[in-house]
Amino acid sequence: NLPVDNYFVEAAFLRGRLPYRGKFSHKGTFGHALLLAGSKGKIGAAVLASRACLHAGVGLLTTRVPAVGYDILQTSAPEAMTLVDPAQDHITELPDLKPYAAVGIGPGLGQDDVSCKVLRQLLQEATVPLVLDADALNLLGTHRDILDLLPPDTLLTPHPKEFERLIGEPARDDYHRLEQFRGFAQQRRCYCVLKGAYTALATPEGVLYFNSTGNPGMATGGSGDVLTGLLLALRADKRLSALDAALLGLYAHGRAGDLAALETGQAGLVAGDIVRFIGPALHELT
Ligand code: AMP
Ligand code: MG
Repeated sequence: NLPVDNYFVEAAFLRGRLPYRGKFSHKGTFGHALLLAGSKGKIGAAVLASRACLHAGVGLLTTRVPAVGYDILQTSAPEAMTLVDPAQDHITELPDLKPYAAVGIGPGLGQDDVSCKVLRQLLQEATVPLVLDADALNLLGTHRDILDLLPPDTLLTPHPKEFERLIGEPARDDYHRLEQFRGFAQQRRCYCVLKGAYTALATPEGVLYFNSTGNPGMATGGSGDVLTGLLLALRADKRLSALDAALLGLYAHGRAGDLAALETGQAGLVAGDIVRFIGPALHELT
């Protein structure tokens, strides 16, 4: 076993890595992202991830939701284009992927078999960066054959429970989980996030990065959906590497939560408050 470097990621580590928004840039410069999210009763996850993606500087965002989410999304995230699925309650069809620079899937998706087929087809057809979260990860855990379809450099964002489902094996303790986590990213050639306090990122090379920002106020429903949207925006920017997009996204998400908590307090913080501070958090890194 080679000695492995671990890093603790603070602002100084990231400064200068966020691409410059040049004077003559246009929507196309920052990429067009596709998000597949939401099912009946969980359209809020699609809204939060969409709003986070927009506030993180994406050029264009198209969000795929089931029909039940159409009015909700158009009203609460009017900057996103809504590509409505033919089915009422959950996503059943994968849109044409040609226009998109990156694709995110999972928040509020549900675990219907038909949505699983959409995920499988996405993994088979996508030629652009992917961000997988929430029910997309749960589906990978219950349909283990599709794990073999993960394109290299895919970004996965499980919390510890989702990670356990993903690998199908409980951890003996936190240290063992970190070793499982590092091994998973190496074996699957992916970038894997393990969410919590000091969220970790494991790279395909087996290097671990620990994020320094964030607070327990972020332990609230929807926080992870915000992270997915934010990471999707950064993955849609062709100028950023997979590693830099992940590190910048994790840092800005936690920092946005810290800035929000200064205003709301930790108990009062809701996921939508994190969205409001994504812009200021990214601005600090420019
Ligand atoms: P999820 O469980 O998918 O909603 O994701 C929760 C998000 O909130 C992740 O990005 C976590 O890193 C973050 N989070 C949850 N609890 C804490 C905590 N105690 N300290 C810092 N961040 C947290
Ligand atoms: Mg989540």
